[in-house]
Amino acid sequence: MFKNKKIILLVILSIFLLILTACGNDAEEMPQAEDNAFLMDTLVQMRAHGENAEIAVEESMERIREIENLMSKTIETSDIYKLNNNPESEIEIDPESMEVLKKAVEYAEMTDGGFDPTIGALVELWGIGTRDAAVPDESDIEEALANTGYQYLELQDNTAEITNPGVKIDLGGIAKGYAAEEVKKIVQKHKIEHAFVNLGGNVLVIGDKVDGSPWKIGIQDPRKGRGNVMAIVEAVDLTIVTSGNYERYFEEDGELYHHILDPKTGYPAENNLLSVSIISENSFDADALSTAVYVMGLERGMEFIEDLDDVNAMFITENLDVYLSSGLNELVNINDSDFNLIEGENLVN
Ligand code: ADP
Ligand code: MG
Repeated sequence: MFKNKKIILLVILSIFLLILTACGNDAEEMPQAEDNAFLMDTLVQMRAHGENAEIAVEESMERIREIENLMSKTIETSDIYKLNNNPESEIEIDPESMEVLKKAVEYAEMTDGGFDPTIGALVELWGIGTRDAAVPDESDIEEALANTGYQYLELQDNTAEITNPGVKIDLGGIAKGYAAEEVKKIVQKHKIEHAFVNLGGNVLVIGDKVDGSPWKIGIQDPRKGRGNVMAIVEAVDLTIVTSGNYERYFEEDGELYHHILDPKTGYPAENNLLSVSIISENSFDADALSTAVYVMGLERGMEFIEDLDDVNAMFITENLDVYLSSGLNELVNINDSDFNLIEGENLVN
């Protein structure tokens, strides 16, 4: 027994050493740190390379926890909980939550309510991702729809008010992007040149890899579980945020019901899309956009993205067609022949 264990240990040790030597001198000299945690209702992974890697990762994780404490709708001391549970009164809001609320309303206006931070009543009713998920009664959907609409959220300098009791704020479609940008600030403050953070599919890379090559980010095969990659994006100082119908869903009578809801119908957005990935520099915007563009669907969504500067998108449809916005061809490598890249992808003529 002992002998076996010793051999196993030796093997592990030699593999470890091999990996270390394979990394070369640069990597040996450059300290690295990483951490994983369940935060903001998802798995957060982070890695940084550089002198201050450890402190940068520690501060970043702490920061994400702070943001969760401010913006969660279930933590009773959060701004959003207070707002949701005290309609028709002005609630004092931390400047950070205010920044996210303001951006959320901005996107609601830009997308004609496709993205809507007042989606909370519908999210609660459907309960997707909880054990109580079920198709609601039509009358309950009608009621929740009457309690949805960003016109019921009034924002002042440092206070916010829900003007229609029953309306609930939900920042699930945007807060992780804000958190990723806050991580970027911390990493830059510590002069880290190589790092990444992944908040449950909301990926941000800072700089390139230690060896000078781009980070390679896998786009998940929307038909399969985590770890199955259908395309690789080469990324330096980029964010890739994906919204898909496979992240959180349930099935009833052979139908799939997923967690991105259409604020106009009260049902999961239905548009033959499996996923939308936004590829750009700013994760805060990309997060809102991924949710918004998923709701808009391929044609309207592509048009919307093409009108924005320095923002790209990749759409995957139910028949596994892949559409790329015009700036993306060089960056994306599809490595699964089940998927068909639709050339002349620009749908907007
Ligand atoms: P994920 O949170 O899985 O990464 P998204 O960024 O697309 O994916 O956000 C989906 C979440 O956003 C939902 O779980 C819900 O909390 C919220 N949401 C759902 N539909 C909308 C919508 N139309 N507008 C804004 N937020 C939405
Ligand atoms: Mg989003």
